[in-house]
Amino acid sequence: MATDVNPTSIAERVVEAILAQKLAPGERLGEQALAENFAVSRTMVREALMQLQARGFVEVQSRRGWYVVEPSAEEARDAFSARRIVEAGILAESEGRPLQKAIRRLRDHIADERRAIEGADAATRAFLLADFHVCLAEQMGHQLLVDVLRDLTARTTLAATLYQSRHEAGQSCAEHGAIVAALEAGDTARARQLMIEHIGNVERSLEVETTAGPDAPARLRATLAPVALPRARR
Ligand SMILES: [Zn+2]
Repeated sequence: MATDVNPTSIAERVVEAILAQKLAPGERLGEQALAENFAVSRTMVREALMQLQARGFVEVQSRRGWYVVEPSAEEARDAFSARRIVEAGILAESEGRPLQKAIRRLRDHIADERRAIEGADAATRAFLLADFHVCLAEQMGHQLLVDVLRDLTARTTLAATLYQSRHEAGQSCAEHGAIVAALEAGDTARARQLMIEHIGNVERSLEVETTAGPDAPARLRATLAPVALPRARR
């Protein structure tokens, strides 16, 4: 059993447990308990948790340990509003630059997103849809903003994983395509406008599901596959 366990497979099992609501937002993740659970070293558990931290599923609090993220509605709003400023700025700044290579790379990324929407789990598709924005900053040559966008998008990845339907994910992907098409046509102003609208659409789709949405729990139950990870003991 322990032979085919690695940090990535542990990370996947923890994500599955979060999605199946066996681990709740804000819940503490004990390194020792997870290590015993998977019969692996704490070092391997820590590596898995660091992968999950990079993907926005868990956070570490100094001296207190690891927790499943629990972003408040206010924090999410803040992250989306920061993204509107940063990403509109990136697109405005790209005006008049040669973008062929960036456009090719972004189109490849969108193809990956489409494949994930068709075949992969909710966590993978939420990650890839968020990563489009990181990729955009990278392709436009803003290395520092790559880290900023990774951080900002990670703050809402868990919410997107839990509440964004496959249909909404497909719409997001189509909006990415429209942004890239505007860039390709040299219409930076339109790309910028489409980006601002797109971020607003994503924000609204998550808000509806997290606040009201009487059918959200039912939809969650319907979309989540059962998983086998026993609840981590504290
Ligand atoms: Zn997007």
